[in-house]
Amino acid sequence: MLRYEIPPQICKTLINNRITKIIRRGKYLIFLLNNQSAVLCHLGMTGCFRISRDYVKRKHDHFIMGLKNKQIIFNDIRKFGFIKLYKASDIFSCSHLRKIGPEPLSENFNISYLKEKKLRKVSVKSFLMNQYNVAGLGNIYCSEILFDSGIFPEKNFSNLRLEEYKKILKSTKKILNQAIKKGGTTIKDYNISDEKVGYFKNKLKVYDRYDMTCFRCKKNIKIKKIFQNGRSTFYCVKCQK
Ligand SMILES: [Zn+2]
Repeated sequence: MLRYEIPPQICKTLINNRITKIIRRGKYLIFLLNNQSAVLCHLGMTGCFRISRDYVKRKHDHFIMGLKNKQIIFNDIRKFGFIKLYKASDIFSCSHLRKIGPEPLSENFNISYLKEKKLRKVSVKSFLMNQYNVAGLGNIYCSEILFDSGIFPEKNFSNLRLEEYKKILKSTKKILNQAIKKGGTTIKDYNISDEKVGYFKNKLKVYDRYDMTCFRCKKNIKIKKIFQNGRSTFYCVKCQK
């Protein structure tokens, strides 16, 4: 049992149909099938997919899609992930995806969009963490983006200057592109490809560097750690105002 029960009719739907496309939206994966169905997946906290040519059962395997000569396996230790089935025509209006904000690397995440959201009286970190404002930015990346843009994470989003919105956009695209190149940050959770997985972890400038010297100012200033909405935030008092 995952977060929701895997719909029993999913097997019937998958058998004898083809996956025509796989789309990512925020932190969701969508498998589109040739019979106009869509399988929606969320990895939750510890979910991962692995591809195998010769399936060997591992603990916490919940779901296996058999392809011609390989298998796509969904494994989830803590079971916060889920798999649901929709009609393809309904997928983007479903409750999970309907309200998700623009993709951070898309052109829709731009200065006029941020200005439009300016009335949000929340901290800039909370703003970025909310997927209704911008899709799929995780906790690690939010700390890194704000460090790169030199903005104090508890600063109120509505009080930012135009220049700061521009910095956020620039840093978001920069950090995410670097991370994608390096294969992300979570070595243990992703098994899709064996190459270049999780090496961005070694490039983190502020996240998980509590009490260490700041890479940027190098003035013996130690990185601080605070909690915002129950999640850890790391920042430099000197570099982030
Ligand atoms: Zn610093």
